Amino acid sequence: MDATITLLGPPGSGKGTQAARLRERHGFELLSSGDLLREARAAGTDLGLRAARYMDRGALVPDDVIVAVVLEAIERLADGPVVLDGFPRTVAQARALDRALGDRARGLDAAILIDVPDEEVVRRIVNRHHGRSDDTAETARERLRVYHRETEPLVEYYTERRLLRWIDGAREADAVEDDVRAALQ
Ligand code: AMP
Repeated sequence: MDATITLLGPPGSGKGTQAARLRERHGFELLSSGDLLREARAAGTDLGLRAARYMDRGALVPDDVIVAVVLEAIERLADGPVVLDGFPRTVAQARALDRALGDRARGLDAAILIDVPDEEVVRRIVNRHHGRSDDTAETARERLRVYHRETEPLVEYYTERRLLRWIDGAREADAVEDDVRAALQ
């Protein structure tokens, strides 16, 4: 059975970087909920326009909306290893994911938490200048609040299921990558 993993962590923790490395260096198919939303937005679809209002505030897109988008993408996955980036972000999403993977005779093999302290998160987001409309100090702080409130409960969710792997994310990307690889063994 091929690995299915998700990367958890606050905004700016380097999830996107690590997910890209898993794709480029280890042949993982990457499914990023943020990228799916940004693509919908760039295409000007109803979904994209609806999502934009939440994204620009640093809020989460409602569960029913994002679950529909991601589950549809899961339907299209090939059989190889998969890394999810940015999904799930709430317990309701995690439950929906468990059901969807179960339907495809897959299961989640690991939830890798790339942990970074709050002050470091805000510093990184303000410095990254991606030109993303949600990369400002104000939305960074809001996204961090949302992370603690909505997403951190997943640490308990996945710990209970023995799937959580904790990684110190306040280091260079290469060091974090070594630990991600070790967590996959
Ligand atoms: P990201 O690129 O993962 O940082 O996502 C950017 C923005 O897209 C987030 O701040 C949310 O507004 C929205 N988003 C991405 N993934 C999710 C998700 N799983 N649930 C709700 N909103 C999401």
